[in-house]
Amino acid sequence: MVNIGTHVSSSKSLDLVFDRGLEVGANSIQFFLRSPRSWAWIERTKREKELFMKKAKESGISPTVVHASYLFNLASDEEELFNKSVKGVIEELALCEELKIDYYVIHAGKTKGRSKKEGIERIHQALENIFKKVELKHCYFLVETLAGQKGEVGENTQEIKQLIEPFKDSNIGVCIDTCHLFASGYHIDTSEGLEEYKREFDSLIGLNRIKVIHCNDSKAPFGSKKDRHEHIGEGYIGLKGFEVIVNDKFLKTLPFILETPKEGDMDIVNIKRLRSLEHP
Ligand SMILES: [Zn+2]
Repeated sequence: MVNIGTHVSSSKSLDLVFDRGLEVGANSIQFFLRSPRSWAWIERTKREKELFMKKAKESGISPTVVHASYLFNLASDEEELFNKSVKGVIEELALCEELKIDYYVIHAGKTKGRSKKEGIERIHQALENIFKKVELKHCYFLVETLAGQKGEVGENTQEIKQLIEPFKDSNIGVCIDTCHLFASGYHIDTSEGLEEYKREFDSLIGLNRIKVIHCNDSKAPFGSKKDRHEHIGEGYIGLKGFEVIVNDKFLKTLPFILETPKEGDMDIVNIKRLRSLEHP
């Protein structure tokens, strides 16, 4: 059976992510370590951390994934935003290590009009600072494949390769997002297109670097470069596309994490839809 999880709220107390995951029948979970629209960093109490570790063991939910704050931009040429972003990642990543969280997923950065080359160099500078401060022993740092809006770095496999290349000896990997890949121009919704994508990824980077899948349908059409998530089967990837994706012999060994809109009981519905597409 495929491991299917979802993004859950971490509000009130961090350990509640496990309760919220179990409620919707998730095998794995993703969450934020700070409120997604705020820079404020809250030091967690010893009690809260212990409770988190206890539930991590008892709940059976695995792996655990943290999504970096959307406010960060490691490609920024504005000194203040760059420094705040580096500091923010260090805070989050150090807590991930401490809590033995498996994966930390980040949108590497946006160039907003500057060249991709400049953006990639800036991100390298950020990652050097970050990995100097936090030694990854348990947690993997995952760069996410992006749709390509506003000069997002990581909209194709070549850029992802350049991003991670200098840090290949660290715990570094890739999170692929089905919506972003489709919107950026990869036909992963057909078996030919998916095979082609995997072949390219394997020859440039190596498939074993892919650790997590963000599983979202796309509200925006193929190649639109727009990052707009939709419920499974209700967007341009469609149920047929997800049937290909969820039964792929490599992808089905990875955790699928939903980041679909939070509406009513749609988490439960989306998980069931994905499950129903799985071949025995
Ligand atoms: Zn993301």
